[in-house]
Amino acid sequence: MNATPAKNVDSAEIIGHFINNADVADDNRPQPVSNPATGQVTKHVAMASQQTVEDAIAAAEAAFPGWRNTPPAKRARIMFRFKQLLEEHADEIAAAITDEHGKVVDDAMGEFGRGVEVVDYACGIPELLKGEYSKNVGPGIDSWSDFQPLGVVAGITPFNFPAMVPMWMYPMAIACGNTFVLKPSEKDPTAPMLAARLLKEAGLPDGVFNLVNGDKEAVDTLLNDDRVQAISFVGSTPIAEYIYSTGTKNGKRVQALGGAKNHAIVMPDADIDNAVNALIGAAFGSCGERCMAISVAVCIGDEVADSVVSKLQAEIAGLKVGSGTDVSNHMGPLITDAHFEKVRNYVDLGVEEGADLVVDGRGLVVEGLEDGYFLGPCLFDNVTEDMRIYQEEIFGPVLCVVRAESEEQAMQLINDHEYGNGTCIFTRDGEAARYFADNIQVGMVGINVPLPVPVSYHSFGGWKRSLFGDLFAYGPDSVRFYTRRKTITQRWPSGGVREKAQFAFPGRQ
Ligand code: NAD
Repeated sequence: MNATPAKNVDSAEIIGHFINNADVADDNRPQPVSNPATGQVTKHVAMASQQTVEDAIAAAEAAFPGWRNTPPAKRARIMFRFKQLLEEHADEIAAAITDEHGKVVDDAMGEFGRGVEVVDYACGIPELLKGEYSKNVGPGIDSWSDFQPLGVVAGITPFNFPAMVPMWMYPMAIACGNTFVLKPSEKDPTAPMLAARLLKEAGLPDGVFNLVNGDKEAVDTLLNDDRVQAISFVGSTPIAEYIYSTGTKNGKRVQALGGAKNHAIVMPDADIDNAVNALIGAAFGSCGERCMAISVAVCIGDEVADSVVSKLQAEIAGLKVGSGTDVSNHMGPLITDAHFEKVRNYVDLGVEEGADLVVDGRGLVVEGLEDGYFLGPCLFDNVTEDMRIYQEEIFGPVLCVVRAESEEQAMQLINDHEYGNGTCIFTRDGEAARYFADNIQVGMVGINVPLPVPVSYHSFGGWKRSLFGDLFAYGPDSVRFYTRRKTITQRWPSGGVREKAQFAFPGRQ
């Protein structure tokens, strides 16, 4: 990331925090934020100290009793107003994403729309929170389950979806009656800050939602503070594992979504042209910086592989790479110089490891944007299981083609892989597709759908080392994650009947 602390930064130009419905100025350890298309530092963001994070937690804790007792229908009305405001400010938020992340603005709009879908879902919270009720579980005894909010919960989010991923978390957490502290990525802080101000405008009471910008110091404060009841994390696997182990050791409920290496199988009977188009979008959209990006295409048989590789090569030649502000571009830059170096080094490594670099995106220069972090699409053929470019998450515009002999062999590769976030099969064979969906060890499966990102009323998550914890993000799982079940059993003495003491454990009546 942009690691060099800024010198002589005008404190008025540093993005601070949002606590208790108010902007909080801060010039602690300001870090530069750049526009990745130009390579220029455009602003700075403060790194919250432990005290600042504790202030945010205190604000959330103070707001909890009132918010927890606010009727769900009233909470839903605030969510509805928030949704309207988000839609009114869509262009502004998408532009902020493009400026700081680099993705093409219609892709930014797509991400934003998927985030707003979760707000739509949160508008139905009175229905979603309805408990379970059983009358006469015994003579004159009724029982029900109530889903109560946890208290202060925190969200820690990655750079690649600065609007959407936070919205996977806080709309549902808040709608369920919790109060929230968000720690977004320090690389693209503006979109979540704009949304925070809209929550206030929508009528959210002070302290219900708070945002602190920061790095490890802020995260560790959230992990170690007893007032934080639960943590939702999305980011890379090493940090997800750290968040999960530290948070659970400290007695918190944790869901930590990590990295990915998503495979697509191309079967011999697939519609190859459609599969190639799907692969191109899923591998190179957002410059490959998506946790659901397809980074491995497993082709069944050499004939399929030869055809897929030559068609991919032809399609890649037509891709336009440039500034995300120009919607005629297919791809923007990578997020930072450091990430650009990391991805380019993986391409060098793939060549050293003996894979065939069929399309080489290194050395791309975008006219007028020579300092931008642009890497062209890269395509490797004949990638094998033992190569690091196959095993590790690259998180850039690099697609690896692996050749396999059968669906079973391809599935074995996927099942043996460390990650299990998303996958897809391209086929016309219903039996093969059904077998794949039944037996693949991956959390989100597409059948002729390259990016099977669930809609907001289902839930999102991976298997294996792509998710630490038991519950997925958003959808029905989020109601379970952000609430604690309480089961109540009641009897009201009636008719003046005097009960005798019972010493046997209450049994079937
Ligand atoms: P990251 O793990 O570097 O950062 C994520 C968050 O953790 C940020 O808020 C960051 O400030 C914080 N963080 C970073 N280092 C930390 C440390 N040492 N201690 C405590 N906190 C720390 O991830 P990123 O580079 O921002 O995002 C890309 C990664 O996120 C990729 O691996 C991608 O696959 C993953 N991702 C996963 C999903 C999913 O749903 N599974 C979705 C989006 C992104």
